[in-house]
Amino acid sequence: MGKAGKMASRGEIESHLSALLAVDSFKDYGPNGLQVEGRPEVRRLVSGVTASLALIEAALAERADAILVHHGLFWRGQDGRITGWMRRRLAPLLAHGINLFAYHLPLDAHAELGNNAQLGRRLGLAADGRFGEQDLGFIGPAAGVADAAALAALAGRSLGRAPVLLAGDGRALRRVAWCTGGAQGYFEAAIAAGADAFITGEISEPQAHVARETGVAFLACGHHATERYGAPALGEHLAARFGLEHRFIDIDNPA
Ligand SMILES: [Zn+2]
Repeated sequence: MGKAGKMASRGEIESHLSALLAVDSFKDYGPNGLQVEGRPEVRRLVSGVTASLALIEAALAERADAILVHHGLFWRGQDGRITGWMRRRLAPLLAHGINLFAYHLPLDAHAELGNNAQLGRRLGLAADGRFGEQDLGFIGPAAGVADAAALAALAGRSLGRAPVLLAGDGRALRRVAWCTGGAQGYFEAAIAAGADAFITGEISEPQAHVARETGVAFLACGHHATERYGAPALGEHLAARFGLEHRFIDIDNPA
């Protein structure tokens, strides 16, 4: 944790984030905003990628008043029972009055603090356009990266994890598109938007064939590895805005 800070109310934080991330303009797979209500005042904030038990326990050890994540606890399609792993995640939050804030697609999309913007910055890529459903995909010039092999090497160095690479036809790169996490379904939209290579977290079986048949490179750089940068950027923003103590806790995930 950083230096001792001021505090903000839970409601102030939620309404600030709601406006900043334009939460109401997204159709999402789960609720964005305050997912678990804790104590009314926040001084110490922990950010992380996923509201896993390991992150919750680490936040408890930090005596956090609030946790800020990209992947929250509640998703469409869950059966809604508070049993097993869900009970074990929720119990310490409720017992200790820890607030859980979660922002999924709104955090992917934010032009400065979001996962896509922060991944681009890490790779030295700047977007001059958007593509795909809800305009979540980023696309921009290849910025001196010669080809798919060079892009894979850059991503491996920058993210600390070797990507799965389908090199396409090995063409010189002019335009690179990216969308963090499980955005393999955006590959065709990236191709239509003029990308020579597409970076995301995960690959599924069909993308390998599409890469071979279209010549456009596909790089799967890790779901966690590509989505590790938005939550800490947003946490730092809140710390500066409200004078909170903030610490990002990275729970390693090979997926
Ligand atoms: Zn994700």
